[in-house]
Amino acid sequence: MEISEIRIKLMNDPNERLQAFCSLTFDGSFVIRDLKIIQGSKGSFVAMPSRKLMDHCPRCSAKNHLRAQFCNECGVRLNQERALKTDDGRAKLYADIAHPINSDCRETIQEQVLIAYVSELERSKLPGYVSLYDDYGEDHIAQLGEDEIVGTELSRSHRLDTAQFRQSMPHLNVTDHAPSQFAMANRTGNEEEEKFGAGLI
Ligand SMILES: [Zn+2]
Repeated sequence: MEISEIRIKLMNDPNERLQAFCSLTFDGSFVIRDLKIIQGSKGSFVAMPSRKLMDHCPRCSAKNHLRAQFCNECGVRLNQERALKTDDGRAKLYADIAHPINSDCRETIQEQVLIAYVSELERSKLPGYVSLYDDYGEDHIAQLGEDEIVGTELSRSHRLDTAQFRQSMPHLNVTDHAPSQFAMANRTGNEEEEKFGAGLI
């Protein structure tokens, strides 16, 4: 099996450990995307595409991330230490979606991806540089809904309602687009683990 193409999207933020996203094509036939190139303490490494593990709320059955302190649907408090532990004692919060199953394959992928990353960095300095990685528009800023654009009665009255509500309940400190208290509470936790999966294992 050969890696026939590697496409890379550079992140260009020296303060972030996430250096790039990439996709791999095998034998010109099969693509895996959402691999990450991450700055580690011993140089860059490649993390496989992964997803957050979830479980169900005991009260309402909604799905929540394993580190959620509160159910995102009904708000019941959840045990934060409920995730299974890996052999080295860390909480298992992510599962790889695609990954190598032997060290030869792991090393081949990592080596070729990191070589491609370095040449992408060089290529990015050239005028007219365009990344070939398709991000499906996830990097774009969303368009506003029509109500927001034309400032209709609906959106004006919504703002009025919020202002009146704020006056009547000043202690709540309501803002127009504040994330829910559950979402805010769930944001705490280990930042390192929130951002990345375990990497190549
Ligand atoms: Zn719930």
